[in-house]
Amino acid sequence: FFFTVKFMDGALTARDRVGIQDFVLLEETNEAAFISNLKKRYSKDLIYTYIGTLLVSVNPYKELDIYNKKQMDTYMGVNFFELPPHIYALADNAYHTMLTEFNNHFILISGESGAGKTEASKKILQFYSVSCPSTTLMSTVRDKMLMSNPVLEAFGNAKTLKNNNSSRFGKYMDIQFDSQGDAVGGHILNYLLEKSRVVHQNHGERNFHIFYQLVEGASDSLLQQLGLERDCQHYNYLTQVCMVWFLIFSKKTCWNKKILTHLFEVVASVLHLGNVQFDTDNRDRALLNDNTELQWLLGVDAHSLQEELTFRKIEAKQEQVHTHLNHAIYGRDALAKAIYGQTFTWLVHRINDSTENKKTVIGLLDIYGFEVFYVNSFEQFCINYCNEKLQQLFIQLTLKAEQDEYEAEGIEWEPVQFFNNKIICDLVEEKHRGIISLLDEECLRPGDVTDLTFLERFVLTFFFFYILGFLDKNNDLFLISHLDQLQVIMTFMLYLQVATQFKSSLLKLTEMLMAKQAWYIRCLKSNESKQPGQFDEALIRHQVKYLGLMEHLRVRRAGFAYRRKYEDFLKRYLNSALVRHEYLLD
Ligand code: ADP
Ligand code: MG
Repeated sequence: FFFTVKFMDGALTARDRVGIQDFVLLEETNEAAFISNLKKRYSKDLIYTYIGTLLVSVNPYKELDIYNKKQMDTYMGVNFFELPPHIYALADNAYHTMLTEFNNHFILISGESGAGKTEASKKILQFYSVSCPSTTLMSTVRDKMLMSNPVLEAFGNAKTLKNNNSSRFGKYMDIQFDSQGDAVGGHILNYLLEKSRVVHQNHGERNFHIFYQLVEGASDSLLQQLGLERDCQHYNYLTQVCMVWFLIFSKKTCWNKKILTHLFEVVASVLHLGNVQFDTDNRDRALLNDNTELQWLLGVDAHSLQEELTFRKIEAKQEQVHTHLNHAIYGRDALAKAIYGQTFTWLVHRINDSTENKKTVIGLLDIYGFEVFYVNSFEQFCINYCNEKLQQLFIQLTLKAEQDEYEAEGIEWEPVQFFNNKIICDLVEEKHRGIISLLDEECLRPGDVTDLTFLERFVLTFFFFYILGFLDKNNDLFLISHLDQLQVIMTFMLYLQVATQFKSSLLKLTEMLMAKQAWYIRCLKSNESKQPGQFDEALIRHQVKYLGLMEHLRVRRAGFAYRRKYEDFLKRYLNSALVRHEYLLD
């Protein structure tokens, strides 16, 4: 069904004095030559290199003057291999392919935490918003899409040890185009926000940016209205040093004042909730003598909420009993997480309401990258599982698909060995046997289940995860609430198994992506200390290895770089050939 051509001519012009622009043209295909080429280019601030049409990017940790309007103009509508590698070239190539073939695309941006994924996705969005034609009406939609970035980052990003502006949620954004190629809308899907950060942060890390922005950046009158003090130290949920990220938050959003105030009220109520302190009686039962902080939870009767936190009903006996201190704290934190999580979902919906307009799309996938801390918990488990799934998608769409196809078409082919991470995905997600299944079973099993009983189930199978908090975090205490009035009805509690939900949303995501044409950006972290000019070879080698870049290069070099389905080829070229033919006959 396919025809293939060896794609050489464009690539030959890619040779450059400062290293090779396309790894396919590298004389030796060993890892040392690969890394030395990257290093050479990095030292000249050339952070982009191709492997065919895949873009490798190394984080420069400094502002480079390569993202201006002039550069955008230079890359618009130019053949991919004619100019030095650039993220704009990839964006432009995807765009023009979409226009000529009328199909959907996605750009998969991967790499570990702090490698530059979010910056890359912003550069692409900026490129499309500047370079695509648009009407005045459309440019408002486009502005909203651009504006949504700082808002979502305020609510969904935080400082971690790996990255000062680390995305703590997964984001998939469709940029929607009409048949003329005008950017006409956008749609965002968000994945598993790390809600536990609202109530707890590891040493050296911070809560979501928005809390600090609000406390430090709000006007005196707004603070007063929200019952907040201008002092981050005052809030138990924000025990680290504050820093102002965007003082003029409200200027950056596109909503009216009323909605904004509502939003801030919800954020403030989380801070108030974190300051609710319980006393205990002599039997370690929780008491709440002072409910002033609860008064600030909008639309909720402070007295009933106090009861909800310190009493629980035993349905069978129709009676109320006092809650133990740790249960009360757990309930308070669960409420804070639920309020924040729902606010985030609400935000994404509002952004979508104002920007959606379906046509062909270019999807941008920017997720949380691989991360390994000294202590790793449920969040790292989910984040790293997500990365394994995307690596699996990459393998299926590139290495495996390519080799399978040569075999199917009877093309002579020496198979390239690669590590297929399917076994890792299976280990996590397999029905009945995978980690997620075991986790769910443990959460649903009646009786005394703890992280330790969960661990026991793994001991025999060599896992030594640090599993503290797994069961709690998987049991998402989900509260049905009407966000507008923050009517939190604590009696309706649903337990959803978080990891299973995440698994099925990832499955949907991969299915959706499989139906689109893929483009890849592989981001590499240059050093651990976030410093410019430092190229840590060992760190780079490690990433080159686990991202499978050498295998990808070998398949690219040995194979055919360009393919198109016969039908698409005919659709694209037959018409114009006929037109030309008729013209000649005339
Ligand atoms: P990730 O999303 O992969 O975790 P980010 O995109 O947030 O990482 O990048 C982390 C930091 O690295 C950014 O805040 C920025 O300081 C720097 N950085 C990343 N990409 C670039 C770039 N292209 N130019 C300049 N600085 C960059
Ligand atoms: Mg990010």
